[in-house]
Amino acid sequence: MSFSNLGLSPKVEAAVEAAGFDKPTPIQASAIPIAVTGRDVLGIAQTGTGKTASFVLPMLTRLERGRARARMPRTLILEPTRELAAQVAEAFELLGKSHKLTVALLIGGVSYDEQDKKLDRGADVVIATPGRLLDHRERGKLLLNGVEILVVDEADRMLDMGFIPDIERICKMLPFTRQTLFFSATMPPEIARLADNFLHNPERIEVSAPATAATTIVQRLKKTSDEPAAKRQALRELMKEVDVKNAIIFCNRKKDVGVVFRSLQRHGFNVGALHGDMDQRQRTATLDAFRNGTIAFLAASDVAARGLDIPAVSHIFNYDVPVHPEDYIHRIGRTGRAGREGFAAMLVTPKDRKALKAIEAMLRQEIPWLDGASSSAPEEAAETETSERGNGRGRRRGGRSRRGGQQSSGASSEAKPAQRSEAPKPAPSPEAAEGNSRPPKAAEGNGRPQRAAEGNGRP
Ligand code: AMP
Repeated sequence: MSFSNLGLSPKVEAAVEAAGFDKPTPIQASAIPIAVTGRDVLGIAQTGTGKTASFVLPMLTRLERGRARARMPRTLILEPTRELAAQVAEAFELLGKSHKLTVALLIGGVSYDEQDKKLDRGADVVIATPGRLLDHRERGKLLLNGVEILVVDEADRMLDMGFIPDIERICKMLPFTRQTLFFSATMPPEIARLADNFLHNPERIEVSAPATAATTIVQRLKKTSDEPAAKRQALRELMKEVDVKNAIIFCNRKKDVGVVFRSLQRHGFNVGALHGDMDQRQRTATLDAFRNGTIAFLAASDVAARGLDIPAVSHIFNYDVPVHPEDYIHRIGRTGRAGREGFAAMLVTPKDRKALKAIEAMLRQEIPWLDGASSSAPEEAAETETSERGNGRGRRRGGRSRRGGQQSSGASSEAKPAQRSEAPKPAPSPEAAEGNSRPPKAAEGNGRPQRAAEGNGRP
């Protein structure tokens, strides 16, 4: 399969070649031929699959005809986070170089002036987070009735962040005749309902079900107590146990991102922090430093999980077991990208038993323990306290929104393994099947933080 028989325009094919993309990824091979014809697409795919180009390339082809008018964008891409929106804008810069399109990036945390100018000039493409888009509309700077193509990206993350009502409002402002390209890594019922309401006879394309996404990722668990200092020590041990080039350390709560960041810094790790409360400038600076290797480790919250396009992350460390199993997939999806081998390790306290079981149910495999234990259940004693600890499990991101309005603690019904029953059962990871409890590239006396920091040059 090559890019030359997907229905893309010659100009777009040339751009793909210039970008160095040799052959389409599975989502691109399936979605592009449909999208270029103007049909709706329901894509079930996560980041790292080449999903962005699967909508950017057909959009570029279709945008070659027609012109934008002032304040009336022709296409609209909705993204849940600023980073992700900025990343899509970068994809337009890379792939749409010769198209001379006006691309307006409407994200919060930056001034309205630049964004207004772009809109006034007539934007071919608007890439926006829902809140900022609605702000512009309310300020009278934007008319949505000229939109020919709508992309809703990372719909399940939109749900997580409480954006679904905004998405519904926006969809109702768009022409009925528009084309809709809708992407989500998972399909919880709220997302299926949204897709049902706003897509017309879509082609459903599912590449790598979430449960199969991890086959190039070696996953391991490490037992720890939930006493904070002991947990931080366990994290450091974990980070020294393996040969880390660069890693993201995920915490469930923003507060813990700060605590873990300061602790690692004190212990000589070359670390930065990233969470949703930082202003845009700080976030961009931290991300740039991580991308170019100035910092080797990044303590981050889930908001950051979807926004990072860093192909070379060697390791993921889950300081906390995520409350929603889907978040586990999103987190570990930062490593092992584009067929590379990745390594993801997670600290598990006795109280995380249920949440871990939900993750394993979703993956349809047990994750091996680093100490060689085979059971997926750590000591069960303290399990009943899961929701009373006041430790934030069961609440996320300030409790802004909940799936279905519920709060969850540990493995709730939200694990929904049944939803994935339509997905083919994945072959277990060869690593996992072996029951190999050793991490790859186990430390050979080289796990000191300084060493790890040294080895962080960008590949
Ligand atoms: P995405 O899933 O859209 O976040 O893309 C993940 C990464 O894969 C990005 O860095 C893209 O530039 C890259 N990519 C996308 N499509 C291709 C392709 N066909 N060949 C090689 N790399 C690609």
